[in-house]
Amino acid sequence: MAEQHAFKHTMPVAMQTVDMATGTVQKTEDVSWGIIPPAADKCQVCAVAHEPHLFHDCRSLFYQYAFYGRQRRWPTWADAAAHCEPLVVDALKDTLATNNIKWTDPPDGAQPIAHLGETEAPPPRGETPVPADALLQPGQDIEVTHPETCEKTSAKVLAVVPKLCPVEHAIADQNGRPRPMMVDAPRHRSTLYVIEIEQPDGRAPKRIYVPQRALKKGLADGAKLGEAAP
Ligand SMILES: [Zn+2]
Repeated sequence: MAEQHAFKHTMPVAMQTVDMATGTVQKTEDVSWGIIPPAADKCQVCAVAHEPHLFHDCRSLFYQYAFYGRQRRWPTWADAAAHCEPLVVDALKDTLATNNIKWTDPPDGAQPIAHLGETEAPPPRGETPVPADALLQPGQDIEVTHPETCEKTSAKVLAVVPKLCPVEHAIADQNGRPRPMMVDAPRHRSTLYVIEIEQPDGRAPKRIYVPQRALKKGLADGAKLGEAAP
């Protein structure tokens, strides 16, 4: 499965090409240097841990360079809080004032830019723990048996979802992918297994969702779970 890259961060750097023999500058050009993205569990805009509805930390060097790389100007507190409710902005202004930090606005009356500009902040990668009572582990190869044809097919445990945790979060977290923005409200009241069954002829794998009790019985959605493959 292709890794989904949230953002590519770059910083413009002026690069000069110098003639080694004469020492003269032949050309000066802007090249982009990559910036390492924030840790998975941090805000992907400012690299600081905070709730999405709160402001970015304008003092974050990562935020400053990532913002500069896109906008060619440095971020201000007005940019850092551009996505916030007025109540949050007021609280931020109070906090800055009590800490003797100056509120800043974009230069020349420019509009504040939310996040890094062209796109929303991707959600941070989270952690969905595998429940202690799990009978299978994510990534485990298994074999499922069709109840009627008795045909055996290779399958993989894509995720082990704790009760009432969003299924798509568990799949993302346990496979090192960014969490999707939209998820269904979780309804399962016991550990749920997401199993991908290989399909012949290069078709997309079929996903089945097996509750804990059904897995214990070895039965699920018309598929019979067989012995674990070696
Ligand atoms: Zn942030």
